[in-house]
Amino acid sequence: MTTHIMPTYARQAVTFDRGDGAWLWDSNGKRYLDALAGIAVCNLGHAHPAVHQALCKQSQTLIHTSNLYGVKLQAELADTLCRLSGMDNVFFCNSGTEANEAAIKIARKYGHEQGIAAPVVVTMEKSFHGRTMGALSATGNSKVKQGFGPLLPGFVHVPYNDIDAILTAIRADKNIVAILVEPIQGEGGVNIPDADYLNQIRAICDQHRLLMMVDEIQTGIGRTGRFLAYQHNGILPDVCTLAKALGNGVPIGACMAHGKAATILTAGNHGSTFGGNPLACSAALAVLDTLGNTSLIADADIKGNRICDTIARQLEGNQHIVAIRHQGLMIGIELDAPCGELVGKALEKGLLINVTADSTIRLLPPLLIDDAQIDLLTETLSALIKEHSY
Ligand SMILES: *Cc1c(COP(=O)(O)O)cnc(C)c1O
Repeated sequence: MTTHIMPTYARQAVTFDRGDGAWLWDSNGKRYLDALAGIAVCNLGHAHPAVHQALCKQSQTLIHTSNLYGVKLQAELADTLCRLSGMDNVFFCNSGTEANEAAIKIARKYGHEQGIAAPVVVTMEKSFHGRTMGALSATGNSKVKQGFGPLLPGFVHVPYNDIDAILTAIRADKNIVAILVEPIQGEGGVNIPDADYLNQIRAICDQHRLLMMVDEIQTGIGRTGRFLAYQHNGILPDVCTLAKALGNGVPIGACMAHGKAATILTAGNHGSTFGGNPLACSAALAVLDTLGNTSLIADADIKGNRICDTIARQLEGNQHIVAIRHQGLMIGIELDAPCGELVGKALEKGLLINVTADSTIRLLPPLLIDDAQIDLLTETLSALIKEHSY
């Protein structure tokens, strides 16, 4: 059935026909609990009525006109995002990797404006920023870069959660213009840095006049218990990128900028044919409206605690658990051995999970997962971890 699809994915042998909230049904009618939400995309679950209604209404009215003209919903979405984030303006695109491309272009032009001909961006080891050449070059995972050289110059990678390594890099290279960092590394294994890591990076960027660029593509839109993860730190970055959950499944990305970073890209510097079209913006506005009118974001912390506390209790004394990490509903359960086969075993039991960095089970359930679904998730997963042969 997939012979004409380029084989870039190792897919599970299941196809879903419909969803409702945190539930999915496959083509045989079997029901699954979705604890991955399309990789942190469907934060409002599947078939959410607000998103559904917004898309129906907008598709009856106007889907696309291009950025040659004013786009009312794009302006409205930019206003809402700036109000929620504290940022000043927004460039819209269609994916996470594109949002990071915009950020990288901002950093490079910022450098050129200061007379730096070959600007360098500091990024982190084990980071993930996307698959296009700029974002791929920024990414700190040699596995996904293998075979695609020459990569873009202008990136230096340092260990995550290591402020001294950033300072050493800055001392060694006067061409550094920006630091790009995930508040929590998602693909890298749900790595949660020290509580003041982002604050320290903010201070370094202020001191050395670097742009602080935060990749909130996975952590954003309520996932960690705040609208954006940097809001836990009470700071403002200069650039912040969004995508994944912004449209709850409708492709949309955003690169937000603040202060001096907001005036760097000017007419003709960057663009996107689809970026910020009325259809995508209507979905994103419905998402933000729903999050604003419910306690889903605040509840993410309570639900994340409940999931992790329960799993910790159910697996008490299990020597294969290295760590259970979470902020809000971004959850990683690190085992002491590779555990990729748990994904297929969970699927058989009607549960969607993910394993990242070989040995970390990653859970990114929809924010509207309820208590009964949490109980089903924790019981099923704890049993699988107990049975797993290490
Ligand atoms: C998923 C992800 C990206 C890439 O987003 P795409 O929409 O797949 O291009 C970039 N950064 C982070 C942190 C991500 O989790």
